[in-house]
Amino acid sequence: MLLFTPGPTPVPENVRKAMADVTIHHRTPEFEAIFERARALLFRLFKTDEVVMLSSSGTGAMEAAVTNLTATKILTVNAGKFGERFGKIAVAHGIANVELKYAWDTPAKVEDIEAALQADSDIDAIAIQISESAGGLRHPVEKIAAAAKVIRPGIMIIADGITAVGVEPIDVTNIDCLIAGSQKALMLPPGLAILGLSTAAIAKIGSGKGYYLNLASEIKQQRKNTTAYTAATTLIIGLEAILNEIDESGFDALYTVTEKRAKATREALKAIGLHIYPNTPAASMTTIDDANASEIRTMLKTEFGVNVAGGQDHLKGKIFRINQMGLIEPYESAWVVNSVELALHRLGRRDYDATATKIFNEVFFGL
Ligand SMILES: *Cc1c(COP(=O)(O)O)cnc(C)c1O
Repeated sequence: MLLFTPGPTPVPENVRKAMADVTIHHRTPEFEAIFERARALLFRLFKTDEVVMLSSSGTGAMEAAVTNLTATKILTVNAGKFGERFGKIAVAHGIANVELKYAWDTPAKVEDIEAALQADSDIDAIAIQISESAGGLRHPVEKIAAAAKVIRPGIMIIADGITAVGVEPIDVTNIDCLIAGSQKALMLPPGLAILGLSTAAIAKIGSGKGYYLNLASEIKQQRKNTTAYTAATTLIIGLEAILNEIDESGFDALYTVTEKRAKATREALKAIGLHIYPNTPAASMTTIDDANASEIRTMLKTEFGVNVAGGQDHLKGKIFRINQMGLIEPYESAWVVNSVELALHRLGRRDYDATATKIFNEVFFGL
């Protein structure tokens, strides 16, 4: 079965092997050397002033960012499940929160953020997804961040890049906290979250907030290539392996091929009459909204060996999402779009003529 969900993504064989060795102790020069190499590679990936790893799923890093970087009030952008989560985290911690809500296919508007900041001088942090995975949407985070800093230079911009880091280049000039998670674009098992931080963010963190998710104590230890608590050694070994593999051909090469594959997939599916759900599709996934979404998804799984994701909440049974993150062979994606075309044939919607495969190949290989 081809795992084509936008997280978790398949773990490459060499990474699985790297993680299969005997357990090593985390307080040893041997592990610290691995940690140091993983950290150096993370700096190349994130391009931020500091990086911190946490043993948690992505949500742990979201929580750490909200609690450590907000002093008075946070503005959260909710255009899907993950944006909504930032607001829920604030509420859970009793942090004052203003929410900007959008339909799940609609990106946040720079003007709305500007207006919200002008209306409320207490807001000292903004949390937003780069790619909102609920609908496969790309928010204009870099533009929002730049505009927000003009109005309030000290504001903290928290960018959830869990389905963006390792997918596309991100301009971190105005971003203070960039979040990634192991099981999405980094092609690792779940359980490791990473935050890239600006110097301004480190200053604002000060002595940190909370206990396990206190970023100050982690920064202090991780600068010495160790962790405040037991490190997720296996995942960090895997992280070093995957980042090394990507680094061989370069991160930019990965971004280029991902963009090309995402475009080829969108064009192939449009050519067989399907509709791309988000107004601004992220490169991380291809989301189709369709009256037969549920039947197509089931058919892909039971007849054609392809596992794609469905939708949540009001989009349950109304969309399906095809992963574009990680190292994916073009022959895998060509089979996925072909399978969708076969499903449409089975549903009596369209006679099969291999259009999807043809268009995918034309766009991907530039025929
Ligand atoms: C997957 C995901 C998360 C984090 O989810 P976890 O299940 O905690 O790893 C957060 N934001 C986005 C955009 C995601 O896709």
